[in-house]
Amino acid sequence: MSRIFSGIQPSGELHIGNWLGAVQNWVHLQQSYDCLFCVVDLHAITGKYDAASLASRTHDMTVGLLAAGVDPEKAILFVQSQVPEHAELQWLLNTVTPLGELERMTQFKDKSQRYESIPAGVLNYPILMAADILLYKADLVPVGEDQVQHLELTREIARRWNAEFGNGQDILPEPKPLLTEAKRIMGLDGQAKMSKSLGNTIGILESPEAVWAKLRPAMTDPARVTKKDPGTPEICNIYALHKLLSPPDTVATVAKNCRGALWGCLDCKRVLADNLSAALAPIQARAKELQATPHRVSEILGDGAARARRIARETIREVKERMGLSQST
Ligand code: SF4
Repeated sequence: MSRIFSGIQPSGELHIGNWLGAVQNWVHLQQSYDCLFCVVDLHAITGKYDAASLASRTHDMTVGLLAAGVDPEKAILFVQSQVPEHAELQWLLNTVTPLGELERMTQFKDKSQRYESIPAGVLNYPILMAADILLYKADLVPVGEDQVQHLELTREIARRWNAEFGNGQDILPEPKPLLTEAKRIMGLDGQAKMSKSLGNTIGILESPEAVWAKLRPAMTDPARVTKKDPGTPEICNIYALHKLLSPPDTVATVAKNCRGALWGCLDCKRVLADNLSAALAPIQARAKELQATPHRVSEILGDGAARARRIARETIREVKERMGLSQST
């Protein structure tokens, strides 16, 4: 069975962008692949961050993943910092990673603008990403288009390490991208990808009233100034969300009513709000149960880390042996 690795930042409550864009796909993938899903808290400390809330954000993200359907019986769910081999492999791979490749990363160029003095972690975090994947010898990584460059670097690092230390063997196999299911969910401002830091999200645990309060003012086709102005659903983020959340006949009605100016945007958003809240209701019920039993969440993460470590230790043993490093007994 092919192995998949995927990670998510511990940003607190899962939002519908994470859910529709990645986690729904994880729930689907765990049925037919050997999956490792990781809350990547070591990545979350790369730049400035709030240390006091990191543990609770990690817990909340875990609750969200479990509530959304990640099944610890089918997939390994764990927190990155609970498997120290991630940081260990990062250092070992650091020795074969060309500086020029790191400096060429688009995200490095963007992020480095924000600092007067750039922390080395901002430059080096793609090596940690490579370590995350190569530690488990993952065959496939579900990636959005914005992550393809990072995966390419992971492949390059694996190639270089194998050439240097593999003695003709691909000890660290090059992972392939799993592109098909990746979706880019835009935020309620309709301007940028849905992201907690941009404040354009709807959390999966939000009440129907809160969902409506956020959807009501959300960006639509600017051509629809009044109810009588026809619109173009394809350029409207509300329509994009309908396509992900509403049944096909509703989606067809939305398109017809929008083009023909047969209803207003508030009518359209009301239908979406109801469908979204109905889809979130079972997730919220599961989250409530998990929140009432925090020890259960800790147990799941402890078990996940132990299972992940069994695989990780074996890779580290092989890598260190090839690199001539002494092994602990
Ligand atoms: S009617 Fe619906 S799809 Fe059309 S612009 Fe308004 S919100 Fe968007």
